Amino acid sequence: MKRSHSTAEKEWFDEAGKGLLSGGVSGVALQRLVEKAQAAGAKGAEDLCKAGNSGKLSGNIQRDMLRTLRKGSHWPQLYYADIPVWNVKLEKIVEKPHPFLLPHEWLAKANFLIGIDALNNTMQPGSGIHKHIQSVANGLQNPADHIAMGLHFDGVPFGSQIFYSDSLEVFSLNFPCSDLGMRIPFTSVQRTHLVKHVTFNAVLEILAWTLKSLAFGIFPTCRHDGTEWSVGEKSYRQKFYKEHQPVKAMLVEIRADWVALKQVFQFPQQNENKGICWMCHAKPSDIRDCQSNAGWKLARRTAMSFHAELKHEGKSCPLWSVPGVSSELVLVDWLHCCDLGVAADVLGNVLLEMVDAMDSQDSRDIKMSKLWKSILETYKERNVGHDMRFPYLKLKSFLQPGKSPKLKGKGSHIRGLVPVLTQLSDQYLQAKDFHIQTVKSCLIYLNKCYQELGDFSAVRFEDSATRMAILYCSLEREQMDMDVYKRWKVKPKLHLFMELAFHICKERGNPSKFWTYKDETHGGHLREIAKSKGGKNSSSSSAYRMLTRFVSSNPVPGAAKSK
Ligand SMILES: [Zn+2]
Repeated sequence: MKRSHSTAEKEWFDEAGKGLLSGGVSGVALQRLVEKAQAAGAKGAEDLCKAGNSGKLSGNIQRDMLRTLRKGSHWPQLYYADIPVWNVKLEKIVEKPHPFLLPHEWLAKANFLIGIDALNNTMQPGSGIHKHIQSVANGLQNPADHIAMGLHFDGVPFGSQIFYSDSLEVFSLNFPCSDLGMRIPFTSVQRTHLVKHVTFNAVLEILAWTLKSLAFGIFPTCRHDGTEWSVGEKSYRQKFYKEHQPVKAMLVEIRADWVALKQVFQFPQQNENKGICWMCHAKPSDIRDCQSNAGWKLARRTAMSFHAELKHEGKSCPLWSVPGVSSELVLVDWLHCCDLGVAADVLGNVLLEMVDAMDSQDSRDIKMSKLWKSILETYKERNVGHDMRFPYLKLKSFLQPGKSPKLKGKGSHIRGLVPVLTQLSDQYLQAKDFHIQTVKSCLIYLNKCYQELGDFSAVRFEDSATRMAILYCSLEREQMDMDVYKRWKVKPKLHLFMELAFHICKERGNPSKFWTYKDETHGGHLREIAKSKGGKNSSSSSAYRMLTRFVSSNPVPGAAKSK
């Protein structure tokens, strides 16, 4: 079928393909459905019926259908490279061909379609990102006309829908200075097939190769490892490169949570005695040091000294060989550090304080159900969006035996509850005693931090964050003095939150510009399209499904706007 067929036929073709692209239906099942529809008189999906030699080769149906759905797309062909992975059955390391979607290829097309102005349209002259590109380009003796790119890395639960026994580790790229908002996967790896550090470094070597060609604005003349193109690649890639002008781009930010930074880049983890932070020399014992003259604020690490230490410890990573790429680009993300970290701790403790402050002989459970009613009323009164509301809150939502209170839930739900509890604190935290007033002030300053996400001021944010942190630490100290442990426990994420306020936001501005809400949604979508409806289950096959379904259902950035 040609795409120029009638609108109704095209709509039918696109709709038929959606099931396959979303991972919701297998190629065999879709072909059966299409055949039945055709027998009933439907037109427009003949090409889907031809897949797998008209169904005779069932193993090829899905592959052929995805090719059919990709017809006319601007995306480049996938690049295959051997990477070391763990073979679960053989229980040994094997080299397997793995697919990648190369940024220097799709970005050349995107740049051709809409140009650097659209891909950098929100870049502020004099901003941290602008200065970074200028300084790196100067070093390369190259004009600073690079597209700003961001790298995001995260693991999403994967495997059986009931028991997520595995996770899909996804690398994606985005445009931090564009309102396009697209996230484009580079590749993914299944956790069960990872060889510690070795698999990630092989993936990052290919990413470093493509990013270097983007930094210099050249197309590579050979494969990432210096070997010649294969015959197929030669005919395809050389033709592709002739048709599309080289493009320049630079990595300006790297976003991942603390656990991922440890796994991928071998960064220090949150409880490491010799140091927990890539920006300063803080040790686990320094996480309570929140004053404006805190020691860690004076003892900063430079990217150079940090990388020298990593190298000295034998912790190599190919990404650091890319011009301008260092630990300086690694940002602290609001979702993991505040919503699911500091704010979850503050709200968990505040909820318990509110329950215990209620003047009644009722059990904590009954008191909590009364508090929940007030929360529901306040949601309505403040017109809080349904996507920002907790569906229900019980005592066990924030209180587990033997643990410091911590509110469990989605980041957006926690974000939506902060102003609601702040409003309710006038009613539920009325006592004039020092403890209750400290709890209330701590919540008020957390709320002020959230208010900065709208109209941002780095100075105000640092002031509110510092006051909130000092009050939180004083509550922990007070509880310990009274031998009431397990409340207001200070955790290492408080240090990252302080770094966000003290250091990162002064350079990068409003943290809502680089938080990972969109990336989390994107990761969930990629997980769905990477799923298999039968067939092979390996790191390579899940990455292939994820990438081919992604390119079949999304245009190259800018293509939708082109004629
Ligand atoms: Zn630090």
